[in-house]
Amino acid sequence: MSSSIVKPIYFFDEADGNNRALLGGKGAGLAEMTKLGLPVPPGFIITTDICEKFYEAGKRLPDGLMDEVRKSIKKLEVSTGKKLGDAANPLLVSVRSGAPVSMPGMMDTILNLGLNDQSVEGLARQSKDARFAWDAYRRFIQMFGKIVLGIDDRQFEKEMAGKDLNDEKVLRKVAASFKSLCENTGKKLPDYPYKQLELAIDAVFRSWMGKRAMEYRRQYGITPDMANGTAVTIVAMVFGNTGQDSATGVVFTRDPETGVKRLYGDYLVNAQGEDVVSGKANPSHIDQLPGQMPDVYSQLQQVCEKLENHFNECQDVEFTVERSKLYILQTRTAKMSALASVKTSVDMYHEGLIDKTEALKRIDPEGLEQMLYPRIGPQVKLKPVAAGVAASPGAASGVAVFDVARAEALGRRGEKVILVREDTKPDDVPAFFLSAGILTTRGGKTSHAAVVARGMGKPCIVGCSQIEIDTESCSFAVAGKTIASEGQKITIDGSTGRIYLGEVPTVDPEITSEFKEILQWASEMKAIRIRANADTPESATLARKYGAEGVGLCRTERMFNQHDRIAIFVRMIMAEDDDERRKALAELELLQRSDFRAILKEMQGLPVTIRLLDPPLHEFLPKEEELMMQIFELKSSGGPRTESEMLRREKMLRRVHELSEVNPMLGHRGVRVGLTFPDIYEMQIRAICEAAAGLVKEGVKVEPQIMVPQVAIVNELVAVRHLFESVKREVEHRHKIKLKILFGSMIEVVRSCLVADEIAHVVDFLSFGTNDLTQATFSFSREDAEAKFLPFYLEKTVIPANPFQTIDQKGVGRLMKMTIEMSRKVKRDIEIGICGEHGGDPRSIEFCSAAGLNYVSASSHRIPIAILAAAQSAIRSSKDSRLSRFLSD
Ligand code: PEP
Ligand code: MG
Repeated sequence: MSSSIVKPIYFFDEADGNNRALLGGKGAGLAEMTKLGLPVPPGFIITTDICEKFYEAGKRLPDGLMDEVRKSIKKLEVSTGKKLGDAANPLLVSVRSGAPVSMPGMMDTILNLGLNDQSVEGLARQSKDARFAWDAYRRFIQMFGKIVLGIDDRQFEKEMAGKDLNDEKVLRKVAASFKSLCENTGKKLPDYPYKQLELAIDAVFRSWMGKRAMEYRRQYGITPDMANGTAVTIVAMVFGNTGQDSATGVVFTRDPETGVKRLYGDYLVNAQGEDVVSGKANPSHIDQLPGQMPDVYSQLQQVCEKLENHFNECQDVEFTVERSKLYILQTRTAKMSALASVKTSVDMYHEGLIDKTEALKRIDPEGLEQMLYPRIGPQVKLKPVAAGVAASPGAASGVAVFDVARAEALGRRGEKVILVREDTKPDDVPAFFLSAGILTTRGGKTSHAAVVARGMGKPCIVGCSQIEIDTESCSFAVAGKTIASEGQKITIDGSTGRIYLGEVPTVDPEITSEFKEILQWASEMKAIRIRANADTPESATLARKYGAEGVGLCRTERMFNQHDRIAIFVRMIMAEDDDERRKALAELELLQRSDFRAILKEMQGLPVTIRLLDPPLHEFLPKEEELMMQIFELKSSGGPRTESEMLRREKMLRRVHELSEVNPMLGHRGVRVGLTFPDIYEMQIRAICEAAAGLVKEGVKVEPQIMVPQVAIVNELVAVRHLFESVKREVEHRHKIKLKILFGSMIEVVRSCLVADEIAHVVDFLSFGTNDLTQATFSFSREDAEAKFLPFYLEKTVIPANPFQTIDQKGVGRLMKMTIEMSRKVKRDIEIGICGEHGGDPRSIEFCSAAGLNYVSASSHRIPIAILAAAQSAIRSSKDSRLSRFLSD
């Protein structure tokens, strides 16, 4: 063994269970449970360091590793009294993967290793159960064939189809046919157990770089510093398939869907672990176990309690019962729905198991969105066509698709897809990411589909045995009657397990008391303020309900886009003389005033940042082609009434031509419109001042802020500030009051970052428009990049993350830091925030907090996510500063 590796293998009873990086999650859990005195079968762990060496050596097991494995197996033989490959009393082992970060089902595992034509007879004699021995043997050949020899599992399934697997003689034949399948590949299934072991270890290491595992790591942002490879855990086999007094199952220490404190899980009598997690059989609910195996159940309860108290986290526990004796094969932190994660964290705090910081740390902010998902409203009286197990909450509608590749293709095109399958395999995960929901006819809450969907926050129903899928005709039937075919719209409710035909209306979810409590703690803990991007009073109300501390961006143009207003705006653009234009502007001013009034009132004295008009004027007019078509149609139809209509459209077409631009994104928009058509900004500023004045006179507290978009040159701001001051003075004079209205600039043009010091002299606050700033910094069109080349860039890791979602720290982030530094040199306390979409992204919030921004502004429905992310980043930074203080002491 190479000298740079200190120790390649650890037995469970000697390993440090806290060292997940070295032992992987599975190995660390087994070591910890062994230390706790729980009934764990003996075994050992090949460390993740060896996995790294394996890849360094070009996918070769390090020299000398198998000698160490051999020594460890000898030790295992002594402790079990069995011998690997023995014809009399064979030792069988499982070879399992386990990375430092949990990746359920994404890597490979081989069970029953050590069986060959001789040892299977030994196992039959020793267990006095030939059926069991041959069942174990056929399982081993199948797994080894699939994982090591790369045989398509469907070939094995085909060989078994329709056969009575309870009959030993049949199983012998199945095993023989499986062996021939292996031989057909030109590779041989080795008889020699140590060769089997070597190939299995090699295959598990390889599965770390398998397509499934890599895709999973990419999707969940698992980077090499978080997990450097997989460990291989080798455990003496215990058998859940030795008769009616044996079983295998998975149990959660609390309900993973609701968070309620009770054991929740599935088990199968006379089966092996894979049968439960693969979802190929419909297991029994754990509540039935006390009736079948009362002693085992109460022992399992005690184990679960001990594990929870030890890890202070809900656990997902794999167990096997061999001839009435309970064994625990794995424990890991349970993956739960967001609802359950919030509830268990709050409950565990009240139970005295964890503190508030710990409770906040363990909730995934992105997952909270799940709790805010729409549900099918109680008023919906539609009858579901079938019901299955509610496995991951939320309702989703989409077209039913029965094939994984088709689901992926449609999903990629942006279609909403419900993937409908009998069961799912880990290979199906890429299709999960692209589907709106998942429906399976087999499996339980702990089956693979359920675990993965819950982790992704996708609505999912499993084990819906009422529906029968016909893969030939791509349709499903209930009670023998075809009710939905591929492409037809269906709706699934992952919170109730119900399936509906067509698209069903949904309602917004309620906020639970635990959710409120968590938000309260997070609000107390965070160090940055959270505002909302809200353009309507309704959206401001929602933002307040979720705890927003103001509106960071009110896009005024959205108000013009409403149906009844666009006509007035068009009239203003098309006005032939000043009088007509003034009239249209006066109408718009009244409408804007009432909008601003409603939002300011809703926010009760919290800051409301109102941005003056941003888009180019032609965006409000019909498209050129549309107008030309209308003119053509009018010309062809003729008649006196059409004459005036035609003239009106021709005039509009001329205006469209006047206003049209080759590159509108870089064109006549934002402050450039404000300066060239000053009456528009004047109208908006007056509407804001009048709304504020009216409320102040009624005794309502208000804090409006006026923000100018697309600023590149300080003189642009100087001119608008001048206009603002004069309108404000005029309104103050008329109402005989003083108004407090801050004036600020968006920072979304690269030049504005470079002259931030000049800008700071003219404004009271700055707000980063990181959508446009990202576009400008990369020269990536924000309208096109994500649909064109960005997915390719992400797949090929040309870029580590989508810069329109997570702030690009090296480029955009650097510009931001420079802007902050330059502007604060001029005005030390200048308020600086961010109002691009990044304001609702947890990783960007972490950056914004560290960069010293005063607030982030996120869309209303992401406020809870932003609050939690801000609290977590405050916790991390206080830990970091404690750590750095400690290190410098
Ligand atoms: C931005 O550019 O980041 C921004 C907030 O403005 P908009 O998205 O309206 O262009
Ligand atoms: Mg912008």
